[in-house]
Amino acid sequence: MHAEVVDFIRRIVADDLSAKKNGDRVRTRFPPEPNGYLHIGHAKSICLNFGVAAENGGVCHLRYDDTNPSKEDVEYVESIQEDVRWLGYDWGDHLYFASDYFEQLYQFAIQLIQLGKAYVCDLSADEIREYRGTLTEPGRESPQRGRSIEESLDLFERMRAGEFEDGSRVLRAWIDMASPNINMRDPVLYRIQKTTHHRTHDAWCIYPMYDFAHCLSDSLEGITHSLCTLEFEDHRPLYDWVLDQLDVPCHPQQIEFARLNLSYTVLSKRILLQLVDGGHVSGWDDPRMPTISGLRRRGYTPQSIRDFCAAIGVAKRDSTVAIAQLEHSIREEMNRRAQRVMAVLRPLRVVIENYPEGQVEELEAVNNPEDASMGTRKVPFSRVLYIERDDFREDPPRKFFRLAPGREVRLRYGYFITCIDVVKDECSGEVTELRCRYDPATRGGNAPDGRKVKGTIHWVSAAHALEVEVRLYDHLFEQEDPAQITSAPDLRSSLNPSSLETLTDCRVEPSLADAEPGAQYQFERLGYFCADADSSPERLVFNRTVPLRDTWAKIQQRAAS
Ligand code: ATP
Ligand code: MG
Repeated sequence: MHAEVVDFIRRIVADDLSAKKNGDRVRTRFPPEPNGYLHIGHAKSICLNFGVAAENGGVCHLRYDDTNPSKEDVEYVESIQEDVRWLGYDWGDHLYFASDYFEQLYQFAIQLIQLGKAYVCDLSADEIREYRGTLTEPGRESPQRGRSIEESLDLFERMRAGEFEDGSRVLRAWIDMASPNINMRDPVLYRIQKTTHHRTHDAWCIYPMYDFAHCLSDSLEGITHSLCTLEFEDHRPLYDWVLDQLDVPCHPQQIEFARLNLSYTVLSKRILLQLVDGGHVSGWDDPRMPTISGLRRRGYTPQSIRDFCAAIGVAKRDSTVAIAQLEHSIREEMNRRAQRVMAVLRPLRVVIENYPEGQVEELEAVNNPEDASMGTRKVPFSRVLYIERDDFREDPPRKFFRLAPGREVRLRYGYFITCIDVVKDECSGEVTELRCRYDPATRGGNAPDGRKVKGTIHWVSAAHALEVEVRLYDHLFEQEDPAQITSAPDLRSSLNPSSLETLTDCRVEPSLADAEPGAQYQFERLGYFCADADSSPERLVFNRTVPLRDTWAKIQQRAAS
């Protein structure tokens, strides 16, 4: 394996190990809330948490942060496990749910009340917000802040018993309403919510808040390093405060890192859910979605996503990564691995007049020029072919070296052909067919007389080609930085109307007849493609994962020179 990049988190972990801060233990966790599908940002966190644990002989827990039943669902619980496993990570026996700790968390809350460090408050959510103050103004104390321990204990038990309506009371920490850190102004620890939970069903009608549940779950599991994104930096004093008040098994260290932002991409589960619910995409696994399942369907591999996460690294400052860098990672892998094939997306018929009718030749084609061990295959050649419409111009501009009237080009793995006539639709004037002649002496792509051609184009044999559907994707959002999008109207107007182009009349060489869903190819000169989940032998459907042109590699070359 290559040497691990040492980021600031790995350095902290290494230092803690040499100082024996947690003995020789390293224990991390990936704590998704099951309220949506995982996305590429989560992949960064997964690679970091599972990576740090594995590199240090530790373990990484998969823990569902399932404390908000109104937004959670078993569908999400299941998809999360599938996606983490698909990325190549294994939590072993360490699968946990915060909801499994509800009783323990409740007992911790009782302890806090008994210590005089928590109280039941009767303010409404709006009033609590109003009392909280601002960054420049201190908050005001709740009228119940002086409530006796006995009364709070009694009310909290009755909250649990279901005596009160949703939102009528909360349990709050007793900290400091004048704290410069708003998170420390008597934060809410428990709320009443009479909603059925996907695991505990109706056993509970009070649910702990993230700031209370998370640190305690970490402690109960013996987590050593609790890695989270920067927006939790201001919550760290509360994380530590809760653990400091209570008699807990251990006090994990929370460390924050910058979340992943990607250009032209939104990584907020709330917005992604709106895309799904609003029918703007076909589902969580729409190949345009930045979800793990969308990327998988699009043709990304676990390796390419892990490579991407390793390349972007882990830092303390927020930044936006170019989506071109993600595309670069799959191109690099596909260039090494993908079988080359010929496909024509927008077919134009070519008849080779001097090629014998009924004759078929099997031409030898290279499967991957990067890897000779992948061998060769046979591609049928015959009198009628399809070429790419784009590869012909009736009136070619300068530097257009492909086919044009009177022009000679090379057919990949085949012969030189010359265009001698153009057939057009009488009404529309559209070119419908090219009449060509071939030079039988150029089989294999070279002329014995040494004459050169400037263009080489791909093709398929009309009689042998398979008719398939191809879906071309572009960014889902028009703006480079769509992070501002917060509302549904914003969302609609910022979507790229041409993010999906479906071509139904494409042709591919017959070797693709048994392409299984997920099978990946390079369509020569066009890009990397994979057979879609909807693909079947009766109707093959391919997704374009990425086009061939690597803008990221160009940017890097320019930066280096
Ligand atoms: P939302 O998108 O609704 O704000 P979330 O992305 O925080 O939610 P969680 O399920 O709480 O969703 O995330 C699980 C873990 O993944 C958290 O530790 C979180 O910090 C991390 N994570 C989420 N988004 C990113 C991101 N863009 N980059 C890196 N890590 C992320
Ligand atoms: Mg979250």
